[in-house]
Amino acid sequence: MNVSVSRNLPKIRPAEHVDVLIVGAGISGVGGAYHLTRQCPDKTFVVLEALESFGGTWLMHKYPGVRSDSDLYTFGYRFKPWIGPPNASAGAIRDYMGEVIEEHKLAQHIRYRHKVLNASWSSETSLWTIEAQRTDTDEMLTFTANFMWMCQGYYRHAEGYTPEWPGMQDFKGEIIHPQTWPEDLDYKGKKVVVIGSGATTATVVPAIAADCGHVTVLQRSPTFFVPGINQNELANMLRKLEVPEEWVHEIVRRKILDDFRELTRRSFEEPEKLREELLAGVRACLGPDYDLARHFTPTYRPWQQRIAFVPDGDLFKGITAGKVSMITDEIERFTEQGILLKSGDELEADIIVTATGFHLSALGDIKFAVDGKAVDFADTVTYHGMMFTGLPNLLWVFGYFRASWTLRADLLSDFVCRLLQHMDDKGVSKVSVALRPEDRDMEILPWIDTQNFNPGYLQRGMHLLPKRGSKPEWQHTQDYWHEKEVIPAIDLDDPVFVYEGSSAASKQATKLAVG
Ligand SMILES: Cc1cc2nc3c(=O)[nH]c(=O)nc-3n(C[C@H](O)[C@H](O)[C@H](O)COP(=O)(O)OP(=O)(O)OC[C@H]3O[C@@H](n4cnc5c(N)ncnc54)[C@H](O)[C@@H]3O)c2cc1C
Repeated sequence: MNVSVSRNLPKIRPAEHVDVLIVGAGISGVGGAYHLTRQCPDKTFVVLEALESFGGTWLMHKYPGVRSDSDLYTFGYRFKPWIGPPNASAGAIRDYMGEVIEEHKLAQHIRYRHKVLNASWSSETSLWTIEAQRTDTDEMLTFTANFMWMCQGYYRHAEGYTPEWPGMQDFKGEIIHPQTWPEDLDYKGKKVVVIGSGATTATVVPAIAADCGHVTVLQRSPTFFVPGINQNELANMLRKLEVPEEWVHEIVRRKILDDFRELTRRSFEEPEKLREELLAGVRACLGPDYDLARHFTPTYRPWQQRIAFVPDGDLFKGITAGKVSMITDEIERFTEQGILLKSGDELEADIIVTATGFHLSALGDIKFAVDGKAVDFADTVTYHGMMFTGLPNLLWVFGYFRASWTLRADLLSDFVCRLLQHMDDKGVSKVSVALRPEDRDMEILPWIDTQNFNPGYLQRGMHLLPKRGSKPEWQHTQDYWHEKEVIPAIDLDDPVFVYEGSSAASKQATKLAVG
């Protein structure tokens, strides 16, 4: 048999129909699948995942030491207790997700190596038609679905963002982006320069420092870091009292959320005081003589970008041990041996790691069309940062940045299930959000208020994202404490929701479409 010929011939199979199609088996998609089985047990659904397994972010990132920056009491699901150290390795997060899949028999619903390429909505049939390609056989598959639940994350998974610097091609060593870290990369005894000073740098540097000859962190501007022990004292105490794990999870979650709320409040109301406290934490690790003003004192307000947690102060231990040094400067150009800085200094390197962030990806790079017309996501206006004008029967899970992403994934799961039940109760097949007459004059704004939160990848990709409106329901606040009250209380009969079509007619159309 000529394998290469048969691989190149796309096979056509009849469409498969499901009530709900979830894109992505990361923490959001697996959570969505769980909630659907619990809250809408009669719905048929499938999760299409491009990779070979579940985990999303926690599967695809393979750089040394990859771990969560959030605590797992809040990054974990509300329904499954977390029992390990608060900040967890990618492997531990995947084990946790694997248990959820097993305990709730979700594997039967997940199709791996299924990359969604196209999705088109027909108002005539009230159905999405989704085309997916199997990444192992190239086979094209077609699905129809009443509702699309987008859990595809927010960044392009194939490659990270590396700026173009002059002379990059001259560099004789290796340039590596953490998102595509080669598993066999040999950094033993090598001089490594890591560009960037976000959470990834804080993770990868301590993980490689002991083995490298030397690690230099090159940053244009400093980041806020919080050193702390990777233990939760309240959880330890509750466990000592033999409090059941479900209670420990819930109590510790509430305490952490309360602490976060206070931190967020202070970042707005007393940013200077908070700044001093954060800097004092770093000074305690690095000693009074370290040049904190130059390397660890950001110019932005605390929380305008994510604050990177440093478990057990491991990044700082590398600095005090002389294995890691910080350079705050700008790149003039790459050279054969390393990097020439604007100050005139040159950094020698065998390996340069570009921890410079992501390419934002709206809707998983899937081509969307509605009634034959291509969708430009940037032309839509978002309802609470989850539904979009002009895109019926679809919701995107875009989690929190300052609080744990999963808090929003759980919150939006409840909303989707409530909406699906409401549609069933009304006997309708289509729901969309639309600007009401009173919304017509509202100000249309970018997806996120950059005064509020402004990491580079969002600023670079803002033009790809939906707009937000100035009225509260058209905002995307990124505020868990506000949304946890507001989203469960949304009146699904508000005129913002436009219901159309009959579910009975849609079922008939499905039968005809799928055969
Ligand atoms: C290194 C790193 C560390 C992070 N740490 C934290 C943290 O500590 N706390 C926090 O709150 N957030 C963190 N984040 C943000 C993180 O991405 C989210 O918290 C969360 O993991 C996102 O989950 P998700 O399921 O929504 O998306 P992802 O994890 O991105 O998963 C999306 C899945 O969808 C699949 N997919 C995408 N497009 C398609 C398609 N077209 N067809 C089929 N499948 C598709 C992908 O293959 C992927 O498996 C981190 C991000 C990174 C990159």
